[in-house]
Amino acid sequence: MSQDIWVVVETLRGAVMDITYTSLAAGRILADGLGIRLVAVLLGHNAEPLAGTLGTADSVIYVDHASLADFTPEAYRRTISGLAKELAPRAILFGHTSMGMDIACGVSLDLNAPLISSCERVKLEDGRPWYSSPTCGGKIIAEGPIPDPVCVLTIVPGGYKPEAVRLPGPKEVVRMAPSAALEGLRITLKKYIEPQAADVDIAKEPMLVAVGRGIQQADNIALAEALAQALGGVVCGSRPVVDQGWLPVPRLVGKSGVSVKPKCYVALGVSGAPEHVEGISGAELIIAINTDPRAPIFNVAHFGTLLSMFDLLPALTEKIRQAPRP
Ligand SMILES: Cc1cc2nc3c(=O)[nH]c(=O)nc-3n(C[C@H](O)[C@H](O)[C@H](O)COP(=O)(O)OP(=O)(O)OC[C@H]3O[C@@H](n4cnc5c(N)ncnc54)[C@H](O)[C@@H]3O)c2cc1C
Repeated sequence: MSQDIWVVVETLRGAVMDITYTSLAAGRILADGLGIRLVAVLLGHNAEPLAGTLGTADSVIYVDHASLADFTPEAYRRTISGLAKELAPRAILFGHTSMGMDIACGVSLDLNAPLISSCERVKLEDGRPWYSSPTCGGKIIAEGPIPDPVCVLTIVPGGYKPEAVRLPGPKEVVRMAPSAALEGLRITLKKYIEPQAADVDIAKEPMLVAVGRGIQQADNIALAEALAQALGGVVCGSRPVVDQGWLPVPRLVGKSGVSVKPKCYVALGVSGAPEHVEGISGAELIIAINTDPRAPIFNVAHFGTLLSMFDLLPALTEKIRQAPRP
C-alpha cells in the first residue's frame, strides 16, 4: 500500500498545463499534512523530459506508451486505474478540466472510490484531509473530509497559483510499464481542431473589459466598448453573452473559451461562476462591477463596487478619458 497523494499530470501537445501545478500545490498541502509523499503521474510517449518542471512532487511515475502520446480518455483511464489498483494511492487529483473530468469519474468507478469534483482548496482539519468545493455557480461552498482509503478529486484552477510550484526537479522519476492492456482501444486521436481565428487574441491582451449577462442586451455592449477604448483594452465576455451572439466565440473567457492573463480585468455584470473564474486565475488585478453583494466574483476580485454598471459606466469612462496619460 503506497498511500501517496497522486497528481495526474495534464499535458497538451508536449506541454504541461498550468492546472497540473495548481493540483500539485493542493497535493503538497495534503501530503505534508498527512506526512506522506506527493507523486506526479505522467503519461506520454517520449515525454520523460516533461518531468523536469514537476519538482514540487517527491517523485514522478512515468508511463511511456505510443497510445499515451496524446490524451484519449480510454487509454488514460485504463492506465491510471491500472496503476492505482497496483499501488493504492490515498488520493488521486485531476484537474477539473475537459481532460480531468473525462476520466476522473471513470477512475472513481474502476476503483469503487468516491469522487469529489471541482475542489478549490484543501487543508488538514484535526489531522484529517479536508476539501472545499464551490457549487451552484460559486454561491455555495461544500466542505468535508476526504474519505479514505482512496478518493478521487478534481481541482479547479484559481485556488492556488501555478507559478509558485513550477519547480525544477523532481528527486526521482520511476518508469513503469502500463499495468493495463492498451491494445484494442476504440478511441484514438485523429487530429486537433484549431480554434476559430480571432481578430484579437484576448489571451495576450493586458487590459480586458469583460461583459456578463448583467449587460442585458446587445446594444449595451457599446458601453463596455467605450470603457475598453478609454482604457486602451478590448472587450471579452462570459458564456451567455457569447451564446447570444453578442460577442464572437474567440472573445469567450473561461473553461470553454480562453484563459486570459491581463494586467487588469474589469468584470461588468459577471457573476463569477467557476467556469468563468477558471479562465481569469492568471489576471493580475480583477475589478468587479456587480449589483449583487453575494456574487462569487467578489471572492476573486481585488476591488469591486455594487453600483449598477449603467449608472457607473458613462461617468467612469468620461473620467478615464479626461485623466492624464502616464
Ligand atoms: C461545462 C460548462 C462550461 C462552461 N464554460 C463557461 C465559460 O467558458 N465561460 C463562462 O463565462 N461561462 C461558462 N459556463 C457557464 C457558467 O456556468 C455561468 O453560467 C456563466 O459564466 C454565467 O455568466 P454571467 O456571469 O455572465 O451571468 P450570470 O451568472 O447570470 O450573472 C450576471 C450578473 O450580472 C449582475 N448584474 C445584473 N445587473 C447588473 C447591473 N446593472 N450592473 C452590474 N451587475 C449587474 C448580476 O448580479 C449577476 O451576478 C460553463 C458552464 C458549463 C456547465
